[in-house]
Amino acid sequence: MIVNQGDPENQAAGATHGQPAAPIPPAIDRRLLAPLIGLAKASPRIVALTGAGISTESGIPDYRGPGGVWERRSPPTLDDFRTNPETRRAYWEGRRTSYPALAAAQPNVGHLALAAMAAAGHLTGVITQNIDGLHQAAGIPEERVIELHGSAHRVRCLDCGTVWPAAEIQDRLTAGESEPACEHCGGPLRAATILFGEPLPPLALQQAIALAHGCDLMLIVGSSLVVRPASQLPVLAQRADARLAIINRTPTPLDPLADVRIIGEAGPVLSVLAESMAD
Ligand code: NAD
Ligand code: ZN
Repeated sequence: MIVNQGDPENQAAGATHGQPAAPIPPAIDRRLLAPLIGLAKASPRIVALTGAGISTESGIPDYRGPGGVWERRSPPTLDDFRTNPETRRAYWEGRRTSYPALAAAQPNVGHLALAAMAAAGHLTGVITQNIDGLHQAAGIPEERVIELHGSAHRVRCLDCGTVWPAAEIQDRLTAGESEPACEHCGGPLRAATILFGEPLPPLALQQAIALAHGCDLMLIVGSSLVVRPASQLPVLAQRADARLAIINRTPTPLDPLADVRIIGEAGPVLSVLAESMAD
């Protein structure tokens, strides 16, 4: 458990166990984050667990529920998607219009701060619920980003498993296809993200659990922590003696478990953290 630094300002910002946390203003005085910075500096192996909230500052809205905002128009089940051509057409029409904005999104200061911490050796990995690829775009090596819910930048055949870059399928949609099918087997295509009722990719889940078991601090950023099993990873980490820090705009159900919780904006908080780690 983190020791309160004794500075009254710390209590306002990075409240420790059970105490209320006041919102962090956009321009942050580094002293306000002293409990977070102290905890991070004392933790050789930090793992970040991120959710949609880290990407809102890149213009991607957050959203509750697997599959994400890019399929918001009609979040289908896998069965529905397989059996109903109408569902598939509506899905691809949604993708045709929404994917360009996702493809154009840029990492924000929060993603860049985590990338700086990774480059400096402070961050051993990132487990993300996001499907936007922005951690990799910020410079974190592919193998250190665990995409629990898949990626919107890949498209997969549901029958034979062939994978394409989403941009190629986007070209087919733009050229007029309304329901792209697999060039090899004719099977239905879908973005390589998980749908309601679908299990997580087993390898990603295994890697996430290994990271949770092997970290000293889990830094949880921009997640409502209501989507399982991602929301269980902090519990696993804590059982393995890791500390927990939660940075989120709004309270989460796991706040009572956190050693430090920050009610604030991910980008500004992470920037100050990354700068302080470099001192
Ligand atoms: P969520 O939408 O349930 O929760 C996001 C949380 O982030 C909220 O509690 C919100 O208050 C907080 N938040 C928003 N902006 C913030 C900011 N700038 N700084 C700090 N906190 C901020 O997201 P989730 O927990 O990731 O679960 C939603 C599901 O939707 C996931 O499965 C995810 O795959 C998917 N999704 C992904 C994206 C993406 O890839 N960017 C976007 C939307 C949804
Ligand atoms: Zn196929």
